[in-house]
Amino acid sequence: MRDINFLTETNAKPIWHPMAHPAEMRANPPKVIMKGEGVTVTDIDGKSVLDAVGGLWNVNLGYSCDPIKKAIADQLGALPYYSGFRGTSTGPSIELAYELSEWFAPEGMVRTFFTSGGSDSVETALRLARQYWKIRGQGDRTKFLALKKGYHGTHFGGASVNGNANFRRNYEPLLPGVFHIPAPWTFRNPFDETDPARLAKLCAKALEDEIAFQGGDTIAAFIMEPVLGAGGVIVPHESFMPLVREICDRHEILLIADEVVTGFGRTGAWSGSRLTEVKPDFMTIAKAITSGYFPLGATLIGAKVADVFEADKTSFGSIGHGYTYSGHPVGCAAGLAALAETKRLRLNENAAARGVELGAVLEGLKAKHAIVGDVRYKGLMAALELVSDRATKKPTDKKTMAVVSEAAYEAGVMLRVSGNNIILSPPLIISAADVAKIGEALDAGLSKV
Ligand code: PLP
Repeated sequence: MRDINFLTETNAKPIWHPMAHPAEMRANPPKVIMKGEGVTVTDIDGKSVLDAVGGLWNVNLGYSCDPIKKAIADQLGALPYYSGFRGTSTGPSIELAYELSEWFAPEGMVRTFFTSGGSDSVETALRLARQYWKIRGQGDRTKFLALKKGYHGTHFGGASVNGNANFRRNYEPLLPGVFHIPAPWTFRNPFDETDPARLAKLCAKALEDEIAFQGGDTIAAFIMEPVLGAGGVIVPHESFMPLVREICDRHEILLIADEVVTGFGRTGAWSGSRLTEVKPDFMTIAKAITSGYFPLGATLIGAKVADVFEADKTSFGSIGHGYTYSGHPVGCAAGLAALAETKRLRLNENAAARGVELGAVLEGLKAKHAIVGDVRYKGLMAALELVSDRATKKPTDKKTMAVVSEAAYEAGVMLRVSGNNIILSPPLIISAADVAKIGEALDAGLSKV
């Protein structure tokens, strides 16, 4: 690798960074991260900080998981790549698919379609949902319903079901036939309802109304994150997803649970669906499947859908969809090791316990700092929503958000800013002392504004 001066000097010039304006990155170059150890990352200036972002919601096992590193090295030695397209398969992909169907058996998942990441997994689920209806002779069922504020990645299908204008507007027109209903977000919702259970009912009613308006027999699937992540950690009341499942069942609409963030213990349960014991028809997973050590994702398929595909005698059953890296043997070897470590360390339990502590810290910060309009958390996914005025809930500006996150960085903690939210998704191996450190750094940041 070239020297540090080259990296500092060149930084954002040849790269266009995701989710950023190229000119802004040139003017204010991003931090260059050089090393990771445990839950800490070190930048090019040698400053080490606790990574309260967990990479990007994915490094659940932290940066020093030797079993994953060894599994990757061993697999690179044995077979660095082979295709999973018809006619060939690889050992790690077979083994991981088997493990995933065991792991997600309580959600009713029986089959795995491997992808290279979360956006691919969402795309796959949307496409398989349409195909399911074609096999069943109901080709009119092409529409998708989703939640406003939902985030489902960046392919055209995923962007179409995304419920945030920032990720849609520059790329429109998107897929036709996609409709959104309000998310059960107590802090801001069109009903001005602050009671979570009542709001869940109102949002479920909005889903019923949209289905009635569109015609249930035109809708292929409804997609939702069990806990909304990138939209600002919106935690639906526990009644919401079961209500959605019941409505979908009544109208025979497939339910896709986008578990790209919630999939491997982050909420304190092994999946977001398991929080409320809902069985979706598809689950999309990625991120922590390898703890971020290798790009990999999967679309998991429930028994009802699998049966229809596998019994198909029409011309619609063959899967005309796949990625060069579907079932990548190195990714799957990394996935097997990550899964084993995740189970061994019972990361869901640590996420639940540390999540309670983190929640208490955040409530304390809300009580202390008027700029904190709302705090939301479940397990180790959390957000602080900052406002310039609590009465009007006016979001704070970009500059203020930058001051808070820079001050927290100075105090030794990496945060992520998304709009007027500070997002926390630390590795699931963090300790109680780490939680306290996150709180102190947030306090330092909020005290600056
Ligand atoms: N779905 C959800 C819920 C996500 O949070 C993300 C990414 O953050 C995606 C899909 C897209 O995943 P990827 O960035 O791996 O393509």
